[in-house]
Amino acid sequence: MTTSLAIPPPAPKRPTIQSPAKPKTKAYQSVNPYNGKTFKTFEELTDAQLETAIQTAATCFAAWRNKTFAGRATIVAKAAALMRTHADDFAKPVTLEMGKLIGESQGEVALSADIIDYYARNAERFLATVKLQPGSGEAEIVSTPFGVLFGVQPWNFPYYQLARFAAPNLMAGNVVMVKHAGCVPQCAIAFEKLWRDAGAPAGAYTNLLISYEQVKRVIDDPRIKGVALTGSVEAGKSVAARAGQNLKKSTMELGGSDAFIVLEDADLDKTVKWAVWAKMNNTGQCCVAGKRFIVVEKLADKFLEMFQAALADLKQGDPMDEATSLGPLSTEAALVQLLVQIKGAVAKGARLLMGGNRIDRPGSFMEPTILTDIKPANPAFREEFFGPVALFFRVKNEDEAIALANDSDFGLGGAVFTRDVARGKRVANRIDTGMVFINHPTWTTADLPFGGIKNSGYGRELSSLGIQEFVNKKLVRVALIDDAA
Ligand code: NAP
Repeated sequence: MTTSLAIPPPAPKRPTIQSPAKPKTKAYQSVNPYNGKTFKTFEELTDAQLETAIQTAATCFAAWRNKTFAGRATIVAKAAALMRTHADDFAKPVTLEMGKLIGESQGEVALSADIIDYYARNAERFLATVKLQPGSGEAEIVSTPFGVLFGVQPWNFPYYQLARFAAPNLMAGNVVMVKHAGCVPQCAIAFEKLWRDAGAPAGAYTNLLISYEQVKRVIDDPRIKGVALTGSVEAGKSVAARAGQNLKKSTMELGGSDAFIVLEDADLDKTVKWAVWAKMNNTGQCCVAGKRFIVVEKLADKFLEMFQAALADLKQGDPMDEATSLGPLSTEAALVQLLVQIKGAVAKGARLLMGGNRIDRPGSFMEPTILTDIKPANPAFREEFFGPVALFFRVKNEDEAIALANDSDFGLGGAVFTRDVARGKRVANRIDTGMVFINHPTWTTADLPFGGIKNSGYGRELSSLGIQEFVNKKLVRVALIDDAA
């Protein structure tokens, strides 16, 4: 398989876009954040094209639901294999559209293929009929698909986000339609093509280049049976409200402000390495990036010194170059938003320990930044910083660390560093989030559930849980006809 993506080589000169780019003149636009160069713009679907797409999906569902697990698994496993075989073809557009370091893009492609494969292999087991033990007769819980699902997805992991929505649901017998983020249209198109190349029937996976108004209409459409969004709190509130008005089940994977807690018995050298990874992976643009670094007094100064030195050591450059360790942010708008947030934080009393500026070079590059002295009254205390900006907090002890970690409107992930795993587990139990990792930043694999609480949303993706969200747990009861009423 070869993708037909139009990707000219990047030209390192000053960017042409310098202003907050939202709203864009074209909703779907492929722009290289390394140099500001526009590859291509894409037209949105007309309402008539959208109607045809929904009808094709609905027609596809009627047949797809009746395929055996083995029949669906053949196609889904083929998609995983194609992703692996053509890993570079998939990785390059990620880097060229949203600036991810090429090694990380390759990692994302491998992870996405793993997720797709995982559901091809395990879906039948996860959705097996459950026999109950009623007082008389028989009863069982059967899992049946909902129908056509609609997903709204973000740019920060342009394939992984799609894989974790599409693979379990296709294996469950649903079909999916996806509105991807406006800045990654080539990735969106490549992922749709993947399913066609794998042999999926028309309508099993549909990419929708549509406006926010059309998003509302899709949610309202009676042929759509469930809605999943991964993105910001603002988008989540809008899409969840619309789904709610229509009494449609939804899952919401929203933002986070994960605590990275360092207790006094942590292995500092290794912890700092993970702190850099937690902050800088995907240039800090992860929902589960370490965002609030909460360090117990005893290690605070040393941690800060080592953390700062390691961040200062990163090598800015072309994200296509494997020697680069600091690439651009996804878009110029993302950079501008972050600079505004930092300015606001400092105006309200935060101290800039390092960074805080755009890097003086072409492209949407941001200095690694550390903010300290962020008091609860500072809006930054509650905000999500989506980029290479670390908020640093010094606390007296474990109890203070937990209290601070929980003083957040978000509840996605978190990490605790300690040499004492039993202690780490006790701390994890007291942290109000959907995920807590011990001695590792929160991260993701196919077999671990992913999701949050509070403003980080509801529902779970991945693992055996993710495939259960959009299936009907139907009770089938065989009663004895002569039983009492
Ligand atoms: P975003 O602006 O909310 O966009 C996410 C998706 O929602 C995009 O496809 C976007 O389309 C669409 N969208 C936004 N507002 C909408 C509206 N009112 N109606 C319909 N669609 C709408 O978020 P982002 O900046 O792309 O992604 C970053 C956010 O996602 C962060 O908060 C991050 O923490 C969160 N995130 C969460 C998870 C998780 O699993 N919990 C994973 C990854 C990211 P356009 O691009 O066309 O605007």
